[in-house]
Amino acid sequence: MNTNEYKFFISDCKRALEKPKDIDISYNIDDIVLKTFKNYNYVKKRAANLRQKYINHIDELLVLFDKKFVENEAEVNWEIDYDLFFEDLLKFLREKKIKEVNLFESRFMEELGLYKNLKEDEIQINTQSKECVIFEAKYAIAQTGSLYLVFDSALEMELVLSAEYKIFVLPINNILKNIEDIELFSTLYSINKNKTSLLNLSTILTPKKNSANNIELFIIDNSRSNLLDYKEHRKALTCIDCDACKKVCPIYALIGDAPYNNVFTGPMANVVLPFLETIDGAKHLCFNCVLCGNCNKICPMNIPITDLIIANRNIIFETKNIDFKDRYKIKLIKKHLIKRKKLNKAAWKKDLLFKLILKKNIHTSRHIPQFAKTNFSQQYIQHDSNR
Ligand code: SF4
Ligand code: SF4
Repeated sequence: MNTNEYKFFISDCKRALEKPKDIDISYNIDDIVLKTFKNYNYVKKRAANLRQKYINHIDELLVLFDKKFVENEAEVNWEIDYDLFFEDLLKFLREKKIKEVNLFESRFMEELGLYKNLKEDEIQINTQSKECVIFEAKYAIAQTGSLYLVFDSALEMELVLSAEYKIFVLPINNILKNIEDIELFSTLYSINKNKTSLLNLSTILTPKKNSANNIELFIIDNSRSNLLDYKEHRKALTCIDCDACKKVCPIYALIGDAPYNNVFTGPMANVVLPFLETIDGAKHLCFNCVLCGNCNKICPMNIPITDLIIANRNIIFETKNIDFKDRYKIKLIKKHLIKRKKLNKAAWKKDLLFKLILKKNIHTSRHIPQFAKTNFSQQYIQHDSNR
């Protein structure tokens, strides 16, 4: 695990441990859940199944959405990655002679790095401009060809809806089938993100036929489809970005956002970054977890985050994306942990062996736990013979 990214991550974690962190880790939604739902577990299960179904049929839903949206004379642009998206966006702005845009920041905008790159290309950002807005749509709705938009304020809503040119961006996985689905996902989001069942100001925008819509939508993959190749990892695409998993993660509470050096941080970063970035550059993240399972328990989409982190460990091990020396050590440890004869050796012998194997990896940061004098099997045999 000797990549530069890993070394930077470790030194950033050490720095983060010493600094006060500006992160919200309060998570107690019991009261609001009791007031809102009769059976919260059932609601979570229903939402998770529905979203999983949509992700499994993402190709059909996107095609249906495209058809309906374009029928109403709005434009859809399909973008594989950020570079192609930015090229097409600049082309559009130049064609329309737009020199000033009103860009509304969001996590996805940050992932795209739009703010910085538009400035470099001498497109002015003006937060009051009504000529052209760039805004992230929360969901696309396939059946009606509509966009679900969520706003932070009435002013934001007014600026977006009254702009002459409306440019929307959408991560490829944020697609729902029916308008009726919105209430379920928005309520779960509000409760888990903001601890309230009150929904943000929002609207459903369906372009109108035969009117000068001036609506451009960019549906952007940015490597999300890499997760579709793995049946279990598809579940990660059902995430509704509520951040609840971060708030219960003991590792995130210790290190915060900074060491990730990415817009994805916390438990989901450990799962998705090896697919969104490179496996080699992000493989260390699947060891950034103590497998406590807190995130699994609270995730409103029932995403088995811990299982996915373990699956990532297996993937990097099987694809030999792990140092030869580390692979050898893991094999050696496995050999000693699965053979009864070796497990029955004296505790001091096993302690010495594990200390030698793991010394260079963890001795500076962690105490290596010691083996019990007698293991469970030996105690059981002893107990049985004493009867
Ligand atoms: S299982 Fe891992 S990622 Fe999830 S809360 Fe625990 S330490 Fe964090
Ligand atoms: S993984 Fe679950 S808890 Fe975490 S942000 Fe996504 S939906 Fe929320």
